[in-house]
Amino acid sequence: MSISLPERLLLGPGPSNVHPDVLRAMATPLVGHMDPAFHAIVEEVQEGLRELFGTRNRMTIPLSTTGSGGMEACFANLIEPGTRVLTGVAGVFGGRMSEVAHRYGAEVTRVETEPGTILEPSVMIQAIERTRPQVVAFVHAETSTGVHQPVEAIAAAAQQAGAFVILDCVTSLGGLPVRLDDWQIDAAYSGTQKCLSCPPGLAPASFSDRVLEHVAARKRPVVVWYLDVSLLAGYFGGDRVYHHTAPISAILGLAEALRLVRAEGLEARAERHRRAAKRLIAGVERFGFEPLVRAEHRLPMLTALRIPPTVQKTGEAAVRARLLEHHGIEVGGGLGKLAGVIWRVGLMGENAREEVVDRLLGALEAELASL
Ligand code: PLP
Repeated sequence: MSISLPERLLLGPGPSNVHPDVLRAMATPLVGHMDPAFHAIVEEVQEGLRELFGTRNRMTIPLSTTGSGGMEACFANLIEPGTRVLTGVAGVFGGRMSEVAHRYGAEVTRVETEPGTILEPSVMIQAIERTRPQVVAFVHAETSTGVHQPVEAIAAAAQQAGAFVILDCVTSLGGLPVRLDDWQIDAAYSGTQKCLSCPPGLAPASFSDRVLEHVAARKRPVVVWYLDVSLLAGYFGGDRVYHHTAPISAILGLAEALRLVRAEGLEARAERHRRAAKRLIAGVERFGFEPLVRAEHRLPMLTALRIPPTVQKTGEAAVRARLLEHHGIEVGGGLGKLAGVIWRVGLMGENAREEVVDRLLGALEAELASL
């Protein structure tokens, strides 16, 4: 092999390290994407994703794109110029949803909250009653702040108002329970590079039959041909009609990742994420890091930590650079308003383990002692 990169422990907001079995699966010699042997894998992946998303939606599929492309797919299918959209903005990714909706011509109303806090369901419900949106969109696991957003009450109010609900599950899927059918979510998307321990490149997504009916009844076709669910249904709906060349190796990797998830069990996996986060928070407090988010709203897979003055003095980016250079460990800085204020430590998928936390704590101890 001619490519050589340093080994890294990826403890930022994503990507996380890839499971070796996933890498091996991706190196399987290629078959064609119209080969029945590959179709059986696609079938298995769709069923595995249904389990993970907690849904019976037929159109539960690995979109050939990253998480942001999944976001585009949800909005592109549901929005026409003038569609009233309500977005919950608790951080950068709720903001991105608003921007995407705006580009498809939606009339967007944003409900914003302070970084590090949830979107209060009562505030979202009032906004739904006031603006009568046709689409309500928000983020389950806001990676820019580490907030775990309660979903059910907001989605129920949106459904009662007749709106479609879009949920961003990029960081939550595979690490937190997701129940699209119980929560009445119409369209959801994720990414493979976080709690599924795959490389980036696929966006698991799910669309309810109500979305498919809506798309079939649209007067104008979906403006993005590539992401039109009515066309994607030709391949993923069962007939396996050519739409675009499936990213075969990436789908083989995802199939392996879903087998690993199933073997572990969703609840055991969620518990492993919770245990790792608890150990991290208990361990970093002695260095002066404090969680940004109050305990009941914290994500297990992404912890936002306020940077202590000792680290601020040296320059937080310089300390992160030392962690990378001396220990091969990547942690994330803050985004947007939280740049320079927090670090984001991801314990996602394979990395949600106590021994991984201890490796980070040891590295931090060594670096902070030398400041
Ligand atoms: N939504 C959330 C909550 C995310 O954390 C991310 C990526 O970090 C995205 C959307 C965008 O995903 P991608 O970077 O895979 O396009």
